[in-house]
Amino acid sequence: MRSLRSILASISASQTRSNDAKLFDPSPAGTTMRDVFIWLAARSDSIVARCARATFSSVMMASRAPGLSAAIRHATCYPAASHVVDPHGLVTGLADAFVRDGGRIEMAAVTGCAAVDGAVTALSTARGPVPVDAVVLAAGLASGRLGRAFGLNLPLVAERGYHVMLDAPAARFEVPVTWSEYGFVLTPMESAGIRLAGTVELGSATAPPSWARAELLIKNAARLFPGLAGSETSRWMGMRPTLPDYLPAIGPAPRHRNVFVACGHQHIGLTSATVTARIVRDLIAGVQPALDILPFAADRFG
Ligand SMILES: Cc1cc2nc3c(=O)[nH]c(=O)nc-3n(C[C@H](O)[C@H](O)[C@H](O)COP(=O)(O)OP(=O)(O)OC[C@H]3O[C@@H](n4cnc5c(N)ncnc54)[C@H](O)[C@@H]3O)c2cc1C
Repeated sequence: MRSLRSILASISASQTRSNDAKLFDPSPAGTTMRDVFIWLAARSDSIVARCARATFSSVMMASRAPGLSAAIRHATCYPAASHVVDPHGLVTGLADAFVRDGGRIEMAAVTGCAAVDGAVTALSTARGPVPVDAVVLAAGLASGRLGRAFGLNLPLVAERGYHVMLDAPAARFEVPVTWSEYGFVLTPMESAGIRLAGTVELGSATAPPSWARAELLIKNAARLFPGLAGSETSRWMGMRPTLPDYLPAIGPAPRHRNVFVACGHQHIGLTSATVTARIVRDLIAGVQPALDILPFAADRFG
C-alpha cells in the first residue's frame, strides 16, 4: 500500500497547504485562551506545548490575517499544521489513485450481509449480492443501523454542522482562522472563496437543516473580519458521526472474523482517516497495530 504522502504527490492539483494559524480571542472573564495554553504547555511536552510556543501578538497577526478585528488580542499558531484547500479534489484524487493501483469501486447501498461459519461471505446491496473476503464498516452515521446486521451496538448520534461558501474577493488572509469561542473556522479555499464551517447542533438526522445556524456563521465571520464582504455561493449541513464517549470505534467486530469497524470520528474524520486506515489495514492483514486500540473497541457499548 502506498503512503498517503506519495499518493498526494501523484495527485495533480495541490490539495493541501501548511502553515495554518488558529486564532483565539481574549475571554471576557479575565482568563484568556492564551493563559490556558501556557498552563497546558507548562505541564506537557505534547503538541499543545508546541502550539503554545507559537502564541502570536496582535502585530504578528496583522501580517498573517490582514483585516482581523482589532478586538482580537491573542492568537495561537500551529506551525506544523496543514489544511485541505480542495476536499472534492482530494477525495476524487484518492479514488483515482486507488483505481490506478488496481482497486475497483462499486457504488451500491449495503442493506445486510450473508455469513457462513462466523465469516461474512457477501454483502446484500440494492444491486444484488457482492461477494467479499473482508468488510470494513465505515458508513459514517449509517454505521449504527448497518452495524446491527453484524450484531453491533454502535449508538451513533448526529452532531450536525453547517457550512457556507463565500465569494469574497476582498478577503486576503491565506491561513485558516478558528474562532474557538464561537466554534467555527474560516478557510481560504483553492477556488478563490472562503469557507465558513462549524457549529454543533445535536438533532435528529432526518430533521430539516436549521439554516439560521449558517446565517450565524456569516454574521460572526463579519465580526472577526469586519471588512469581509462577499456573496454566499453555497451552503450545506453535514452530520458528524459521534459516539457517547467521543472516541471512534475501530477494531474487529466480535461476531464475524472478517468484519472490521471504522466509524465515529466526530469532528476529525478527515484528519484521523489515515491513522484509522493504517490500523484497519494491519487488522485485515493479521498484523498487530502500532497503537493500542482497546479504548476504541467496537463492542464496548454491548
Ligand atoms: C461542517 C463540518 C466541518 C467539518 N470539518 C472537519 C475538519 O475540518 N476536519 C476533519 O477532520 N473533519 C471535519 N468534519 C468531520 C468529518 O466530516 C467527519 O468526521 C467525516 O466525514 C466522517 O467520515 P466517515 O467516512 O466516517 O463518514 P462519512 O463522511 O459520513 O461517510 C460515510 C459514507 O458511507 C456511505 N454510506 C452510508 N450508508 C451506506 C450504505 N448503506 N451502503 C453503502 N455506503 C453507505 C455514505 O454515502 C458516505 O459516503 C467536519 C464535519 C462537518 C459537518
